[in-house]
Amino acid sequence: MAIREKAKKLTKWITILEDKFPPNNLPNEDKLLDQFIHYLIFYANNATNAKKAFKALKNENEFGDWNEVRVATINEIDHVLDPKRIEHSAWLARIIRGFLEGVWQVNNVMSLAGLTEEKVTKAKEVLNLIETKAKAAMIGEHEERRGETEIASVIPPWAPNYLLTYLGLDSNVPWDPHTSRVAERLKMFDTSANLVRRKKQLRALVKTDREALQLHHLLIELGKKFCHDKAPKCLKCPLKDDCDYFKKDKKNGKKDASATKASTTAKKTPSTKAKKSTKAKAAPSNPKSTPSTRTKAVSKAKSGATTRSTKAKATKESAESAKKDA
Ligand code: SF4
Repeated sequence: MAIREKAKKLTKWITILEDKFPPNNLPNEDKLLDQFIHYLIFYANNATNAKKAFKALKNENEFGDWNEVRVATINEIDHVLDPKRIEHSAWLARIIRGFLEGVWQVNNVMSLAGLTEEKVTKAKEVLNLIETKAKAAMIGEHEERRGETEIASVIPPWAPNYLLTYLGLDSNVPWDPHTSRVAERLKMFDTSANLVRRKKQLRALVKTDREALQLHHLLIELGKKFCHDKAPKCLKCPLKDDCDYFKKDKKNGKKDASATKASTTAKKTPSTKAKKSTKAKAAPSNPKSTPSTRTKAVSKAKSGATTRSTKAKATKESAESAKKDA
């Protein structure tokens, strides 16, 4: 497909996706640090919940500013994130606090604004330094107990690219697992091309760096909600009519995750009903009059009587033998 045709298709998809995932829920903050913290929460969470959690962190009644978040305890940050239904909120609280500590130690101010003045190489160096400081700051009791002296990563590997795109220092669409998978399934690039060419082809479909960032957000949303790595929910996907991956699966008779779930629920219902009806038969409205209960009671009574009579017999016999012995 020619680039112009692909770009036209992408514009249509973006409109559909923006309708499904309202842009005002996606990270779109004025300051780079705000944008990045919002992005960190958004990446692994429902966009609405992430937005609420981000706003709560910024709320003056919780923390005055990012410096207050930096010096807060993990529990204090977690108590703000958790009520907004944030996944693994304690872990995320640690990441946010660690990242803020890194920013503070490298910049001496709670801001990333200085990066806007830098050239790409210098900006990358600063981000690497922030990551190193953040990791060091995050080594805590937990790691010491386990004898760990290093943390694998604080910010995701594609985060520097994300920040640079936001700053206009890198024009590529940030490349994370969701972007790569969804774009491949929708054939936004030649799937036989190598990574460098894939990135170039995807970038050629959008006009500005802001659009590249917006596309990345939308593909993440699509990836989180429908286009899962395993068992995508194609039947519910807003782009299924244009998706070759879905059409191919349908042709091969492969079951869709959303359809499988629906059919499982449908199958479960009658058996649940059947269970209930069996229960209903076994348990009439007045449990006291249950034949089985009565039978049980009678047999218990009988067995009780038998035990008693056996015991009495044994006592009588032992008394007689005691008499004889005497
Ligand atoms: S139709 Fe399926 S494979 Fe295609 S983009 Fe949607 S979820 Fe992904």
